[in-house]
Amino acid sequence: MSASEPVRECLLPYARQWIDEEDIEAVARVLRSDWITTGPAVEEFEEALAAFVGARHAVAVSTGTAALHAATYAAGVGPGDEVIVSCMSFVATANAVVFQGGTPVFADVDAGTLLIDPESVEDRISNRTKAVLAVDYAGQPCDYDTLRSICDRNDLTLIADACHSLGAERDGRPVGTLADISLFSFHPVKHITAGEGGMCVTDDAGHAERMRLFRNHGITVDHHERRAGRTWRYDVVDLGYNYRLTDFQCALATSQLRKLPGWLARRREIALRYGEAFCELEAVEPLRPDPSVEHAYHLYVIELDLERLDVGRGDIFAGLRDEGIGVNVHYVPIHLHSFYRRRFGTGPGLCPVAEAAYERILSLPIFPRMTDDDVEDVITAALKVIGDHLR
Ligand SMILES: *Cc1c(COP(=O)(O)O)cnc(C)c1O
Repeated sequence: MSASEPVRECLLPYARQWIDEEDIEAVARVLRSDWITTGPAVEEFEEALAAFVGARHAVAVSTGTAALHAATYAAGVGPGDEVIVSCMSFVATANAVVFQGGTPVFADVDAGTLLIDPESVEDRISNRTKAVLAVDYAGQPCDYDTLRSICDRNDLTLIADACHSLGAERDGRPVGTLADISLFSFHPVKHITAGEGGMCVTDDAGHAERMRLFRNHGITVDHHERRAGRTWRYDVVDLGYNYRLTDFQCALATSQLRKLPGWLARRREIALRYGEAFCELEAVEPLRPDPSVEHAYHLYVIELDLERLDVGRGDIFAGLRDEGIGVNVHYVPIHLHSFYRRRFGTGPGLCPVAEAAYERILSLPIFPRMTDDDVEDVITAALKVIGDHLR
C-alpha cells in the first residue's frame, strides 16, 4: 500500500492477556496442593466475581460458550422454542440456543451502538419465544430497562451475553445485575483470563442450581456432599455436561480479578485518546456510547465512512495490517454464516442495520498492557492509511 517504512515492525495484536508473577505464583500454589479441579479455588473465584458484579450467585464453567449453554438450559430452552438473539455477536451466542434444540431468531441492532434494538426484539416475538439473549457489544451494556419490560410483558427470560462488558455499568448499575442471567468469558482476549473459562451470574437461586447441575453431568449431589455423607449414591436428574472449571484456572482468574479495576481504567484512557484523535479524521466515526453508560471497552470499534474513501474496508484493513496494526472485524453477522443459512434459512436482508454496519467496522487494538507509544502508533497508522485514501 505504501512504499514508506511501516509504523511498526511486528504486529500489535488487537487484544492480549497480561500475566504477572503474582498470577503464576497463584497457579503454582494450587498445582502444589491436593486439589487441582473442583476444590476451594472454584468457590473463591465464584464468590469474588459475584461480589465484584453485585450478583447473589455465580457458577464457574469451562468456557464462555459453556456459560451460554448453561444459561439457555436454565432458561428452559428446548426443541420448538425460539430465542431472540442479537445478530452482531460471536457465533457462540446463537450456537448455545441450537445446542438446546432451540431456534435462534435474529434481531437487528441500533445503528449508533450496534446493541440489540428493542424494537426489533418486539417485532420478532412469537408464541414460541422463550428468552431474549442480548449482547453487550464492545463493552457497552444494552438498554436493559426496555428489554426488561418487553421480557416481563411476554414472560421471557432475559439473558445477557456480557463477555465484552465485565466491569461496565448502566445508570450506575453494574453488568451482572441487569438481566436474569449474565455470563462472562475468561478467554485471553477478554478483560481477565483463566486460559479458558466462563461464569454465569444470577440473583435467582433456582437458575443457579440448574446451572450447577448442568455443568456436572446433571448430577444432583456433588462430590463434597458425597464425601461428607459417606455415600456412593447420586442421581442423574437431567442431561448435563462436564463443563467444570479447574482449580488452577480459578486461582489464575481470582488473581487477575484483583487487577481488573486498574485495567478498566486503562482501557477507558486508551478509548479517550482514540476518541480525541479520530475527531479530526472525517472518514472515521467511533461508535457512540450512551452517556448513561460506564463502558468496559473490550473492543474499540470505528466505522469507516466509505463515501469519503476511495477504497473499501478491505483495503483499509490490509493497509493497517501492513503497518503492523492488528486490526480486526467484529463480527460477521451470525445470520450470514453458511450453517445458519442452511439450517435456519437466514441470509442477507434479515438485519439490514447490522449488515450495513458490518461493511464499515474495524476493531482497533485495545488492551491494558498497551503503552502510550503503542496507542500513538495505532493513531499514526490510521491517520496515514485512512488519510491516504480520502476522496
Ligand atoms: C468470547 C465470546 C464468547 C465465547 O466465549 P469463550 O470463552 O471463547 O467460549 C461468546 N460471546 C461473546 C460475545 C464473546 O465475545
